[in-house]
Amino acid sequence: MTTDSTSPLLLVVEDDAPMRRFLRVALTAAGYRINEAETGMDGVHKAAMQPPDAILLDLGLPDIDGLEVVRRVRDWSQVPIVVISARGQEKDKVVALDVGADDYLSKPFGVAELLARVRVALRHAARVASRSATGEATRFAVGELEIDLAARRVTCAGTEIHLTPIEYRLLTTLAQHAGKVLTHAFLLKEVWGPGSEGEAHNLRVFLAALRRKIEAEPARPRYLLTEQGVGYRLVDE
Ligand code: CA
Repeated sequence: MTTDSTSPLLLVVEDDAPMRRFLRVALTAAGYRINEAETGMDGVHKAAMQPPDAILLDLGLPDIDGLEVVRRVRDWSQVPIVVISARGQEKDKVVALDVGADDYLSKPFGVAELLARVRVALRHAARVASRSATGEATRFAVGELEIDLAARRVTCAGTEIHLTPIEYRLLTTLAQHAGKVLTHAFLLKEVWGPGSEGEAHNLRVFLAALRRKIEAEPARPRYLLTEQGVGYRLVDE
């Protein structure tokens, strides 16, 4: 694939030279344009000077840490941010998502996983942009699962699925952010309201109930994936 000025521009913020090189080689081979920063401050600066279509952000940086970069960029931009975390940064990864990052990659990761995360991030940005122009999306479909938000109707392989109000709100919250991982804290706040942070067991119970209704094999889900220690993701492809 060739790169031209219409290819999506990705900003890579990473201090580790071999990792930066891996990202550059993999992403340019896939047709993306790359801008690089070695420090958090340089990353914030480059995000402002030449706004990218998505940012790949290492959490462990030599000056300000990745969480601070997410906070600063979110002051003015909704650009998708995929954080890259090392072993031992599991907690930071969850905090990064809660302060506005869109997704994460845990080191070590392969090229296929990298490209999948970038595709989701760019698609999500396109969806947010089109939604603001045409109003809320009213229909979501992936595989055999369909949600008609206007009619409040969920079907799987054409058969209507009856959901409780909480199951429905959980599913539509995941669908509004399809492809993205949503943290336990975010889902609890969106579905049960503020102050429900301690009710993580409810989330597990309702998630399991939802899986039994929409998954052919609930123990090996096709749609509703568990992100260990982080949250859940509804696939969008
Ligand atoms: Ca680093």
